[in-house]
Amino acid sequence: MPELPDLVALKRYFDATALHQGVRQVSVSREYILGDLTPRRLAEAVTGRAFESTTRYGKNLLIRQDGPPWIRMHFGMTGSLRYYKHGDDEPEYCRVRFSFENGYHLAYVSQRLLGRVSLTPGPEAFVEEEGLGPDARRISREEFTDIVQGRRGMLKSTLMNQHVIAGLGNVYVDEVLFHAGLRPRDTIDTLNREDLRQLYETVQEVLETSIELGSDARDFPADWLVHSRGEGEACPGCGGTIEQVKVSQRSSYVCPRCQPRR
Ligand SMILES: [Zn+2]
Repeated sequence: MPELPDLVALKRYFDATALHQGVRQVSVSREYILGDLTPRRLAEAVTGRAFESTTRYGKNLLIRQDGPPWIRMHFGMTGSLRYYKHGDDEPEYCRVRFSFENGYHLAYVSQRLLGRVSLTPGPEAFVEEEGLGPDARRISREEFTDIVQGRRGMLKSTLMNQHVIAGLGNVYVDEVLFHAGLRPRDTIDTLNREDLRQLYETVQEVLETSIELGSDARDFPADWLVHSRGEGEACPGCGGTIEQVKVSQRSSYVCPRCQPRR
């Protein structure tokens, strides 16, 4: 479920551990994670280089090396990173291992193999190739209202669509809609421009709060929906009963009282 705030934390972790060290070796234990890229091509592109800096875009971590190309990491549903020294400490489901000249390793972990490691010429080319919408954290209020207003369909599917806005996923969209008092299946045409402006503010508040709290849900405010994601749970706002609804095959959680039908 790594979504935008989780990517901020992953970027922070990467920057604190893996920058400015020569890469001695790259090992891939599951080629599937590379898509069309071959392990050999990845090793050729990375071995002998060093990671210099990183950029986050939506749910992607883009890593600049001390020469082209860039590396892109996407973390799917359960992906993470681990920096470690001893072989015994290698995490389970390590799919790609970068070994540094200082004897440490960086593991790219992806249990369900839904993540992706690939190469790209750079951030602009990557965003264009993938057809990504503006990053949810950098988009302006006017841009947001213009883009969303121009869409059809359900609110939740729209906000989760990375080609519309990049960075939000299942959990954060539910959280945003809960605080905004909107339902996942509300259609865009039921929202006026002022509703969309307020929705934008809620998106930013939820993301900012989560980022400040290190994207660790256990630390999120007590009145957040994330603590009650389950059919029949008590609503953290009003104590009512949380209901589960399906939107685009994904489970969404709503409080019928706090999120009245429009
Ligand atoms: Zn409620």
